Amino acid sequence: MKDNIRPKTFDDIVGRKKEKENLSILINSSKSRGDVLEHILFYGPPGLGKTTLSSVIANEMGVNMHITSGPALTRAADIASILTGLQEGDILFIDEIHRLNRVIEEKLYSAMEDFALDIVVGTGPSANILRLDLPKFTLIGATTKIGLISSPLRDRFGVIFRLDFYTQEDIEDILTRSCKILNIKLDKDAIREIASRSRGTARIANRLLRRVRDYADVYKVSNINKDLVLKSLSAQNIDKMGLDDLDTKILKIIVEKFNGGPVGVSTIAESISEDVDTIVDVCEPFLIQSGLIKKTSRGRVATKLAFDYLNINYNEELSLL
Ligand code: ADP
Repeated sequence: MKDNIRPKTFDDIVGRKKEKENLSILINSSKSRGDVLEHILFYGPPGLGKTTLSSVIANEMGVNMHITSGPALTRAADIASILTGLQEGDILFIDEIHRLNRVIEEKLYSAMEDFALDIVVGTGPSANILRLDLPKFTLIGATTKIGLISSPLRDRFGVIFRLDFYTQEDIEDILTRSCKILNIKLDKDAIREIASRSRGTARIANRLLRRVRDYADVYKVSNINKDLVLKSLSAQNIDKMGLDDLDTKILKIIVEKFNGGPVGVSTIAESISEDVDTIVDVCEPFLIQSGLIKKTSRGRVATKLAFDYLNINYNEELSLL
């Protein structure tokens, strides 16, 4: 079911105008030169289309895409077997590329730059380095944390795209497209309501749509209206801004326990027994984008909007301390 929804061509991809234009130029120019595509790096929060764009690129180039991820590659042999199994022009997609270990990363340097792989043959003083030629390929990396990618690796990508949250209109279009594919009938108002709770994230929009559809199935409703969406989403604790329990917990800790901050992210994580990475990668980008919290050199600060959201009086003087 999921695979049906994932766009296959540039035309299927909603929004992302600038990225599509740039990628089309890259694809057409490499096709006309008969060359492989440059290495590409996508970064941005989860669910915004990094994997989707990569698989569309592979489709448009007419090549195979091999998918792996940073944490899955532990030994030099892992990357060696993948690289030697590629065919000319293939795409190697490495998700969470910031989590590659040093050994693998160093193997990638020569693979990306010279399409060659250095392997050590033998042990001790008689060990030799053998250079294996690899087929020309394209590496596409995806990450939620560009800051954790070393500069030698980052510099080997020809193009770097930052993917932002989708606009409300884009998410409405994504939902409209998904409704058609999944054969779900939704009023315009209902679509608008789901979109506004999707935190600008395509994956969340599609997930909420499925939950609403399940709810409608149970209550045997075929035309889904705004009222049903509201009932279904509030039954799942998805509020009007799309914040979930964890987001609310983060806001409450900053506002109630630390008087609105500043407070360090590790202290927040400890206070709510959550992992720092989840807060930084999953929750924070949206809380910052919606203006609920700010990142300062002294830590995270809740804004007036966050106090209003929690129905707590905002103390202007406190915020100036
Ligand atoms: P990421 O790799 O950034 O975590 P994905 O590429 O897996 O995100 O996207 C999550 C889902 O959202 C995909 O399955 C796809 O169906 C949908 N999606 C993402 N971007 C778009 C888009 N621009 N148009 C239509 N659907 C999209």
